[in-house]
Amino acid sequence: MILREYLPSIDQALCRKCRKCEEICPAAAISLARDKKDEKKMTVNPARCIDCQRCMDACPENAITMLPREADRALRVDLSGLDPEEIKRLCRRAGLAPGEAVCACSFITARELAAAVLLGAKTPEDVCAMTGVRRGCGIYCLVNVFKILEAGGITPEGRRKSRLYHHPLDPLDIPEERLREIDARFPQFRLVEDVALIRKYRGRERREEA
Ligand code: SF4
Ligand code: SF4
Repeated sequence: MILREYLPSIDQALCRKCRKCEEICPAAAISLARDKKDEKKMTVNPARCIDCQRCMDACPENAITMLPREADRALRVDLSGLDPEEIKRLCRRAGLAPGEAVCACSFITARELAAAVLLGAKTPEDVCAMTGVRRGCGIYCLVNVFKILEAGGITPEGRRKSRLYHHPLDPLDIPEERLREIDARFPQFRLVEDVALIRKYRGRERREEA
């Protein structure tokens, strides 16, 4: 469960529809949509927004301001109608313990990620919007999002023109030799396994960036 304190507000007079906010949003909460007057403008979906504030940081025009959120501040996955055994099975297939915190920033558990998949999440952005995972750094939890989607039989596909991952501390930049050295010293972090998964799903993204 996370508490969403703020919601982005877009100054349409400043916005030049570059869509950088849309690309960077981990929850697919901002998109270019038509309003009632049939005019295209960047629009925030409050139900999906997790208050990570990446859009505000990314906007080159300073068109986004985070305003206090008035309603629906708590975001939690409803576990009540789900079979706990099914949740456990999905976590086990993903190699995660149900009560394990999969995100060091939000303390979202593997159980919550599994519940999101059982409730219909089909993409990393869906898991993010339903649970609040990736609200902080977005680095270490992303691999767990990949794992849980794979365990649910889903191949995570990045949205077109979206970027799954944004951080200067990119695990893909760790030299192979160093990676194996760290993995040998701290096998509990499963670094080699995790980087292989990141490489699998981010390879395409990086090729597109090049
Ligand atoms: S990043 Fe800023 S200028 Fe670009 S589309 Fe989003 S709100 Fe508009
Ligand atoms: S989830 Fe983050 S990036 Fe997306 S709209 Fe909300 S604050 Fe902006």
